Amino acid sequence: MRLKHIKNADIIINASPYILTNPQDYKGKWNSLFGNDNPIEIEIGTGKGKFIISLAISNPNINYIGIEKYDTPLVGAVKRLENINIPNLKLICFDASNINDIFDHEVDKIYLNFSDPWPKKRHAKRRLTSPNFLEKYDSLFKDKNKIQMKTDNDSLYEYSMEMFTSRGYEVIKTDTNYLDEHTTEYEDKFISIGKNINYIYVEKK
Ligand code: SAH
Repeated sequence: MRLKHIKNADIIINASPYILTNPQDYKGKWNSLFGNDNPIEIEIGTGKGKFIISLAISNPNINYIGIEKYDTPLVGAVKRLENINIPNLKLICFDASNINDIFDHEVDKIYLNFSDPWPKKRHAKRRLTSPNFLEKYDSLFKDKNKIQMKTDNDSLYEYSMEMFTSRGYEVIKTDTNYLDEHTTEYEDKFISIGKNINYIYVEKK
């Protein structure tokens, strides 16, 4: 995400009740943090949070955790959340490369929205749908693996389809002209310039 660094972004976000600064402490016990046994869904690369906030408001019986590597975009999310009380939402500033440090067989679904495409082959490992990441995701899920992805990037879409199927995922739904009720910041921008949105929903037992 090309964003200017916001001064004191870490201080601003850490003052928000939505931000958890010690996510490792909840590994294996996220349900106790939320105080219920509702399903837990996570978004990796939440950015400014529009999508996950919208989902959390619409589905109070699902717990949502937004994970974002950088503090600057999260400033946008915590500002959006000022004076709103959404008990089923938490945000974490964390690099998903270490996602196995924070979840253990307790996630119901992963959302990947407009992830960085890393077009150069030598950077393929950084793509959030690379075999490297798909392997990490396996031990996050409580039951079935469920991953939903949206991207403007046609190459990332094709690459991800290939990676999901080669790792045993079943493609439940795919669409290269997807319109969603819950949009992200990037999605809104792409829709406004007429770019089609690619969608994938996959599952694995
Ligand atoms: N989902 C948002 C932002 C998309 S940009 C939207 O659709 O508007 C991709 C985001 O993923 C960026 O904010 C980037 O910082 C984040 N990201 C990239 N790699 C990540 C990682 N390894 N862990 C967590 N977040 C990551």
